[in-house]
Amino acid sequence: AVAASNRLRQRANWSRAVAIVDEFREAFQTPMPLLKHVVDAMVAEMHAGLVREGGSKLTMLLSFVDSLPTGDEHGLYYALDLGGTNFRVLRLQLGGKNGRILNKEYQEVSIPPDLMIGSNEELFDFIAQRLGDFVAQEGEDYNPHGKIRELGFTFSFPVNQTSINSGHLLKWTKGFAIAETVGKDVVSELQTAMVRQGLQMRVAALVNDTVATLAGARYWNKDVMVAVILGTGTNACYVEHADSIPKWRSALPKSGDMVINMEWGNFWSNYLPKTQIDEALDKDSVNPGEQGFEKLFSGMYLGDIVRRALLKLAKEAALFGERVPSKLSLPFILRTPDVSAMHTDESSDLEETSRVLSSVFGIKSSSLQVRRLIVEVCEIVAERGARLAAAGIVGILRKIEGDCVANGVANGEVGKVNLANGELGKLIGNNKVNGRKTVVAIDGGLYEHYPKFRNCVDSTITELLGKDAAKDVIVQLFKDGSGIGAAFLAASHSLYR
Ligand code: BGC
Ligand code: MG
Repeated sequence: AVAASNRLRQRANWSRAVAIVDEFREAFQTPMPLLKHVVDAMVAEMHAGLVREGGSKLTMLLSFVDSLPTGDEHGLYYALDLGGTNFRVLRLQLGGKNGRILNKEYQEVSIPPDLMIGSNEELFDFIAQRLGDFVAQEGEDYNPHGKIRELGFTFSFPVNQTSINSGHLLKWTKGFAIAETVGKDVVSELQTAMVRQGLQMRVAALVNDTVATLAGARYWNKDVMVAVILGTGTNACYVEHADSIPKWRSALPKSGDMVINMEWGNFWSNYLPKTQIDEALDKDSVNPGEQGFEKLFSGMYLGDIVRRALLKLAKEAALFGERVPSKLSLPFILRTPDVSAMHTDESSDLEETSRVLSSVFGIKSSSLQVRRLIVEVCEIVAERGARLAAAGIVGILRKIEGDCVANGVANGEVGKVNLANGELGKLIGNNKVNGRKTVVAIDGGLYEHYPKFRNCVDSTITELLGKDAAKDVIVQLFKDGSGIGAAFLAASHSLYR
């Protein structure tokens, strides 16, 4: 009788589990019509953010980068890349058009987690110290003799720039929370810390990682117009016409262009499929109410969304037995690489998934049926994210092409084109005056190391653009641009040019 009632209970639990996953699938779904609304919302918010400060949750920050690397840059430059989990210093010897990159050395360290929530001085001292150690290893032949060494500073947080090498931190993201730094000029914070370390260096350029990636990719390919980071955090930047930025009151740059750091991590639209899990995750985060788009899919959060889904299955459907494994309740214990490992598990008995369950949650045994359900949860969560990221990218392409057409119409160059949904294909396909392709450079661990996520981003972009238009868009992984791009920009903004 006991065995029979156990069996009954197990069966009830299993159907409850299946029902919960069905609910997830429903709540996380991103059908084409929804994605098209997200594309439209992205375009509308981009316009609103350019009109005036505070015009949109998309801050559309000016980068003060009005010219991108040409390949002519030469000399010795340093870069410092402070982003999500890692921190890098690098040294580049640039040889101009013919030499290009003559030498590149770098060092990477992970940021001690306590520094992310410690004091301002500690963080910048840590950075300056590591930089100092690295500079001290400089070979003699590199020594720029008397010239102060110059540095590109990639700082991957929202900064209100006041010039190419100054700007105030608007807020922290990605788990950093050091209240003192907010509102401060991060370049002078770094300069003061360098002085404390006895290090003489000049910050020639302060850039977001998206902007550095754009610069890095541009060095090799003139057609790069957009750069996207899909990593710990997420963001995008693109090349905008200076005269399409009403909120910018200063003189227009010679080039007529300005790179805009969108800070799309903070994008929001009511079309975005926000679930109860997302709400709880946001509430428990260090920055509730902020970075809504980012929290739906970036690398820092994806694992925790899945963890929360598994916790619900454990609690409400005893997916892992009558006792809920305690580690399931630990925030951020499940990391995105583990989600990728499970999602990509192609072994017939889902061994990789067993390994993750055991090593992360201490769940030593599970049935194949249960593991299948877990892989499905990973897929549901990751696909929503990848499809939303793709919609964001298509939004940017559409903004760029829309302006191109609007200008073209004004110049009498191209005929009138209907900008309504579905016409995007024609825009990108037929109206590129120069007939060149538009390249989107993407960097970040989520895109690089999670193949199913990457494939889904790529295929959704094609699906949204339509096959024909997609032919004129190249989406490309561009690695390590956030470091080298900053060095290029330091070179083009050098005092010794
Ligand atoms: C930051 C952006 C950054 C992105 C990717 C976001 O959390 O706000 O400035 O570009 O992460 O690193
Ligand atoms: Mg980075």
